[in-house]
Amino acid sequence: MEARYIVRLDDACATMDRKKWKRIEEILDHYSISPIVAVIPSNQDPQMRIDPEDELFWDRVRAWQAKGWHIALHGFEHRYVTQSRGIIPMNAYGEFSSRPLEEQKEKILQGLAIFAKEGIETKIWVAPAHNFDHQTLEALRESSIQIISDGIAHEPYHERGFFWIPCQLSSLIPQKSGLWSACYHPNTIGEKEFEDLERFLSSHSHSVLSDLSSLEGLYGHRKRTLKERFYFYAYFLNRRRQQNQTLQKITSRLRRFL
Ligand SMILES: [Zn+2]
Repeated sequence: MEARYIVRLDDACATMDRKKWKRIEEILDHYSISPIVAVIPSNQDPQMRIDPEDELFWDRVRAWQAKGWHIALHGFEHRYVTQSRGIIPMNAYGEFSSRPLEEQKEKILQGLAIFAKEGIETKIWVAPAHNFDHQTLEALRESSIQIISDGIAHEPYHERGFFWIPCQLSSLIPQKSGLWSACYHPNTIGEKEFEDLERFLSSHSHSVLSDLSSLEGLYGHRKRTLKERFYFYAYFLNRRRQQNQTLQKITSRLRRFL
């Protein structure tokens, strides 16, 4: 089967760069694409304070939800309070890995409570900095979260009681097969990335998925293959040695490997 793609937008919050978010929204609307959008419930990360506080922020999130965008819980405050790597060993910093279970539960519950108060429903988890551990999963198990948007694999799979949609790319690049999520950060996206996204969508928009429930139907019972597990393990070891390896390099190796 030919490759298919998912667009993920990270770091939506009340102080996001509204001009850039508007631009990417217009591009996706033009091609009728519903992305996963990772919303920070209560941002305390100074790097995410770009525009003045937007009083209409939650109206915007509700409008995204109403038009079929998939709202994901993006941690709680997006504060980097750990130096520990987690299940996805991408970064030795984040908000969750190795923090006490009770603290993790509290953050997740508070984040979901803000969503509920604002009328936002979610079943998707996007960890800040890809940083979460088995205790995070334990905490998430007691919530509405069923889907983890993260990990390095060729296609989605079911594991540890969750449906995992891997996130392997930082921008959309044509692939031969498999399911590829590309994680964009609209707050810091540059002119060239906007142009590359438009160029990709002008020829591949038919392969970009908007309906996640169809994915669960297709892959809901799939387990990771041995090859995928081996690759992930090799990646884990490699990541520990090479702190600055980029996501793009990792995935180009994954493409050769699978
Ligand atoms: Zn983030």
